[in-house]
Amino acid sequence: MHIILRNALTWRVVVTGTVTEAEMIDNVVVACRGLAQFGMGDLIGGHVSLRVPGEDAYFCNTFDRTLSEVTTDDVVKVAFDGSVLTPGRYVSLGLTFHTGIYQLRPDVNAIVHTHGYWITTQAAFARPPLMWHNLATFFHDDCAMVEDDSFEAIAPALGTKSTILIPWHGAITVADTLSTAAGLHHTLEYICRLDVQLANTGAQPMPPDMVLKMRELVTRAGYLEETWQLLRRAGHRALAAER
Ligand SMILES: [Zn+2]
Repeated sequence: MHIILRNALTWRVVVTGTVTEAEMIDNVVVACRGLAQFGMGDLIGGHVSLRVPGEDAYFCNTFDRTLSEVTTDDVVKVAFDGSVLTPGRYVSLGLTFHTGIYQLRPDVNAIVHTHGYWITTQAAFARPPLMWHNLATFFHDDCAMVEDDSFEAIAPALGTKSTILIPWHGAITVADTLSTAAGLHHTLEYICRLDVQLANTGAQPMPPDMVLKMRELVTRAGYLEETWQLLRRAGHRALAAER
């Protein structure tokens, strides 16, 4: 499909397989706005990126806007070497870990990183969240920890998992699709809230023999895709309110 795409400087025709660059940019914007509607976009920092098919590059939001402010003008193409292919905009130094993950994980096409309040609070425990809810099972044996906050350490520490917590910082979720990465991220914020509020209360997490059964159930139910649709609706409402 050929389309006319406006970037910061010019108009051009772009084709990227079955998804256009304009569609990718729109998806980054809607994901940022949707996450922000649920408390994950109030501060400077946090990024949503999408791998550009067939290129050593990805689309990502710029550093100078919160997730609650991002528009199509605030999504730029970044090469794996760190150069910003859309001139004139500044991106987070933390984008280094996006490159690291995309290079180590050819299965990953979308990365979501936020400093969501409950994610960040729970990450200070320096352990994955416990199984306080059936949705927590998405993170059972699938949530890594990184020992320090060096960007180079993150991709190797993530390994083959979908989620990584960065103590005293935030979290990253990755997936083959943005719907799964963003759906996981929103779910993680909720699960971390439960962990922070239930840890050390005497409450008992889910028995281990229930975990895999519940994970299969919530996966089969299509929970993450519905969560992505929730984020899309919230993101579109936020954008419409500004028109
Ligand atoms: Zn960060």
